[in-house]
Amino acid sequence: MATLPTYTFNPGPSAVYPEVRQYLADAFEEGWLSAPHRSERFTTLVRHCLDQARLKLNIPQDYTILFTSSATECWEILTQSLTPRRSFHLYNGAFGQKWFDYARALRPGCTGLKFDINDVPDPATLPFNPEETDLVCITQNETSTATQLRDPFILSLFNRLGPALLAVDATSSLGGVQLKFIKADIWYGSVQKCLGLPAGLGLLVLSPRAVARAREIGDNAHYNSLNSMVKQMLNHQTTHTPNVLGIYLLSRVLQAREGIKVIQPHLNERAQKLYDYFEQVQPLGLRPLIDNPDARSTTVIGLQGPAALIEDVKRRARDEAGLQIGGGYGDLKATSLRIANFPAVPDAAFEALVQFFESIRV
Ligand SMILES: *Cc1c(COP(=O)(O)O)cnc(C)c1O
Repeated sequence: MATLPTYTFNPGPSAVYPEVRQYLADAFEEGWLSAPHRSERFTTLVRHCLDQARLKLNIPQDYTILFTSSATECWEILTQSLTPRRSFHLYNGAFGQKWFDYARALRPGCTGLKFDINDVPDPATLPFNPEETDLVCITQNETSTATQLRDPFILSLFNRLGPALLAVDATSSLGGVQLKFIKADIWYGSVQKCLGLPAGLGLLVLSPRAVARAREIGDNAHYNSLNSMVKQMLNHQTTHTPNVLGIYLLSRVLQAREGIKVIQPHLNERAQKLYDYFEQVQPLGLRPLIDNPDARSTTVIGLQGPAALIEDVKRRARDEAGLQIGGGYGDLKATSLRIANFPAVPDAAFEALVQFFESIRV
């Protein structure tokens, strides 16, 4: 077997917290792997997990939190249960585009606008009619292009929505960015990015307005219809046998973690240092993928360079320093690198990363 890298900067599945090893053993010892999902023991675990999520991620008390299997599943749930007519999609990369594609497959009237990776779009000029649109869909952190839409943009978009709901893909920022939940109706993400856990669990967070809208629309046709999920969650249960192990691990990780108020500034500082380094030093010509500092992601750092160099750097990082750097994604696959700046990646990994780039640039 090839040796595992010492550190991985893959932006998903990404580094897990080292404590997960012990949590897995505890889950086995404590009998969670065979725990019935209608038992009081399980519902107590769910309540604890949701309390921890509210506390550590600053999710408002009146927002509903649901478990899904992934962010991808959320795309379909939101179209099935909250989009009788059409959604409007603003995107600049592969994940936002996929969301648009899944929505359009079910509701052909959906529309979208692709913006440049260096742009911060102006909410006042977006081409959708709030009266005829059910959902406005944005990707807060576009993992494929290493870009981010910040609070002022989201707030200003939310303020011009009228009856439409704002839905936000926060898959690679939930747990790494202090999201202003009250400024949108729907937020979702999965645990294998900024929550430092193995894949297979997603979180879907709904405002009271979104829950009420789902009730009005009345979709009950799917196993994962929002109405059925919300109804089960009133009793801290799920519509189907859920990922009990994932829920257990999430509750342990959240309990052990600091609040997002502490985590975000730490990540932002690490991001700033890396952007500064690659802007100023440009080792072998590698430089930030995104030129506009206001469009850059704080949790996924993108770098660009010629395809041959990208390949070479990835290989040397792995062979010479035991560092797994994330490759590009979608259209940017060959000409970019991505570095996950997620909470479970330790500071020592970033020190090793800069050391590696220092060693190859001379
Ligand atoms: C990873 C990712 C997804 C897909 O998440 P899954 O849990 O694999 O479905 C969706 N959107 C964004 C922005 C992502 O980074």
